[in-house]
This record gives sequence, C-alpha cells and structure tokens, in this order.
Amino acid sequence: MEFISTRGVSTPVPLRDAVFQGLASDGGLFMPLTLPSFDVDTLTGMQGESWPELAFRVLGAFLEGSLADKTVTALVGETLNFPVPLVQLSERIHVLELFHGPTLAFKDVGARFMASLLAHYRDPEGPTMTVLTATSGDTGGAVAKALHGLENVRVVVLFPDGRVTPRQERQFSTLGGNVLALAVKGDFDDCQRLAKEAFRADRGTGAKTGSLTSANSINVARFLPQTTYFFKAWRDFEACRSNRTRILFSVPSGNFGNLAAGMTAKAAGMPGASFLAATNANDVVPEYLHTGVFSPRPSVTTVSTAMDVGNPSNLDRILHLYGKDMDSLAQDLVGQRVTDEETLSCIRRTYRDTGYVLDPHTAVGLAALEKRMEPRSDQTGIVLATAHPAKFAGVVEPAIGTEMPIPPELAGCLEGKRQVTPIEPRLEALQEILEA
Ligand SMILES: *Cc1c(COP(=O)(O)O)cnc(C)c1O
Repeated sequence: MEFISTRGVSTPVPLRDAVFQGLASDGGLFMPLTLPSFDVDTLTGMQGESWPELAFRVLGAFLEGSLADKTVTALVGETLNFPVPLVQLSERIHVLELFHGPTLAFKDVGARFMASLLAHYRDPEGPTMTVLTATSGDTGGAVAKALHGLENVRVVVLFPDGRVTPRQERQFSTLGGNVLALAVKGDFDDCQRLAKEAFRADRGTGAKTGSLTSANSINVARFLPQTTYFFKAWRDFEACRSNRTRILFSVPSGNFGNLAAGMTAKAAGMPGASFLAATNANDVVPEYLHTGVFSPRPSVTTVSTAMDVGNPSNLDRILHLYGKDMDSLAQDLVGQRVTDEETLSCIRRTYRDTGYVLDPHTAVGLAALEKRMEPRSDQTGIVLATAHPAKFAGVVEPAIGTEMPIPPELAGCLEGKRQVTPIEPRLEALQEILEA
C-alpha cells in the first residue's frame, strides 16, 4: 500500500515515509492510495472477534504490503489492548466508550499505535529521534506515555499554557526523562503552527529524515487505527443482521481526525452509517457544510477545550474521500454546533436521568445527536465518548453536583513532580530548545 497526498501533487510514498514525513511535500495529508473494500460477509464474519482481532483484519487490509502480518499483529496487540465497550444510554442512543486506555482518552488509540510503529522503525544505533507533538490536551499525554523511557527517542510536547486541564497537564509533565513539556504562550493553533514550522525548517536544512517527526492527528499512523473502533461498534450493534438498521455516529470534533477515520471506514465498506460532526463554538466545519464556505479563524475557548480548533486539518481527508462532491458528502455528513450552556445542561440532565457521567466533549456529541436524530425512525445514534469525565472534573463536578472518584490511571501522575518549560510562540524559541 502506498500513500498519496490529499492535494494530489506529491508522488505516492511508502508507509514509512508517510509516517516520518507526517505532512506530504505538497502540504497535503497522506491517505491510502486505494481503500480496502470489506463486503458485508467479511464484516459479518467478524462477529465474535475481539477488538484486537478485528483491528488486525482491518489494519492488515489497510497496510497490506507495508508491514508483515506478524508486525501488524504485534503492534495491534501491544497498543489496542484495552476495552472499547458500547454502552446503551437510552432506547435509541448508545455511547462508544473510547477512554479506557492508559491516559483515559480516545487519543490513546492512534497515539499508542503510532508510537509503537515509530519504535518499530527506529534505528537503535542511529541519531536520537525527536517526536514533536502539539496538543490541545489529550494527545500530549497519550504520545508521551507511549514513548516514555524509550532509548534514542525524545518527546517534545507543545501545549497552550493554561488551556489544558491541570490533570491533563500532569499526564505529560510529570513523566520526565525523555519527555519535555513546553508551555506555549498562545492557543492550540499556535502550537500546531509552531510544530509545522519546526518541521518545515528541519527539512529545509536537509536534516536526516526522521530526526524530527510529528505525532499529530494528521499522521497517517494515528489516523488509520481509529477506523477500527467504528467497525467494532458497527459489528457490536449487529447492523449486519438487518439492512434496515441505520447508524448515525456523532463524533465530537476538533481537528476532525476521528470523524475522518469513521468516514474512511464507511468508504471501505461499513454500510448504513452516516455521521454527525459535533463541535463546540469552534464551528468552522458545521458552517462549511451549511454554507459551502470554509473560513478558518482563531479558536475560541470553551468547556470542551480539546475541541477548540479554529483551522481543522483533517477536513481535507474527508473532502478527498468524496472527491469534493459536496452533494454526496451532504448525504453522509451533517454538522451541529453546541454551546457551552447546552453542553453543561446535557451533562446535568444525563446524570439526573440515567446516572451516566459525560465528559464535556462527549456531552457535545450527545447534545448534537439529540438535536439531529430523526424522530421516530429506525435510526440509532452512537456517540463517541472521547475522554473519561474525571479528566475534566473542574467542569463536570459542578454540573452534576457531586465529586467523582479519581481513576487509578490519573491518581499516580497527580502525585508526580510537574516539570514544564514556558516558551513564546515563535519558531526561534522552539528551535533553541530543540537544539539544546
Ligand atoms: C482530540 C479530542 C477530540 C477531537 O478529536 P479530533 O480527532 O481532533 O476531531 C475530542 N474529544 C477529546 C476528549 C479529545 O481529546
């Protein structure tokens, strides 16, 4: 399998290059040259398979010719090794819990897989590889945790100072060792821009490919494994048994990697699925779907901080899947913006009515779904639960009016020593630190 750019200018590259380059040389995002096509019989055949088994099949097909089967099995086995249960919330609404990984966020899926793949490719005798990661909160923890302690690898986390929760910050700032946490005076868009600039500059100097690599959600190694839980949820719902069942996946979105993965799963054969792009006030994509005008702008701060993205990168992948055919895209995807008030009231109401505690991001997904599900139809809604509520106790506890227990995955790092270096949002400031 080779990987092409969504901009279609660069020549196709093998997986290894796509992973180390992060961004294609024409500035586009990498996508598989061709998509596998799973037929309903194959998907039905996945009945009873565990998530890793199913993920091996799915990723094996996406990565055919790029990695040996036994490598894919090993990568999947050591990274996708936590449960992703589907929990019923009401008659027609289910929650796909993606937050049972080591850092309690769905980003564990892509970040752990990518980290293991980097470790697989790494030359233990070669120069130190720096993995540069801009984070709106959860990526940093997931990537840092996955690469912590690995020889010849350095992890640099760029996060917007004061805009990630204290518990999120603890997850990457207490590891120490080969993990460096940089508090950028700016927002997530600044962090993302800095990472891109550093990356471009590194290439410009002819530095050895792979010395600096990005672990952001644009990386194809993070993107592809996320397709697997859509297949898993679809399978769990046994949609394959009835061609009348239609699933509306509500995806709480920021940089749109998660949603792009779901739509890629559909393009690779998952039938009967449509999608809801649920956003907070950073509603560039819902606006685009509604008006056809894409106008990226600086992000605004909300209670669902990991989704405060003003210029989402992965929309290009979605447009690529549809060959920019907006009419067919409109049949499969709608957008919905949710205000902070609606998010908080959704957390409060859901807790009161069902006892289920939502994190603010998942609440955006549920609130959007409640607005957009077809009334009295055979449509089922599945909300992707992207983080454990305990990571956002400052927002969730006042809304539900009670304290939550702290999961053991979090308790450990809350006690560790915080090590953070503040930096200005300028390339020179970052380069100075990278070269030190
Ligand atoms: C990153 C993140 C999102 C947004 O995911 P994208 O793939 O960037 O759209 C949503 N919720 C949480 C908790 C996140 O960490």
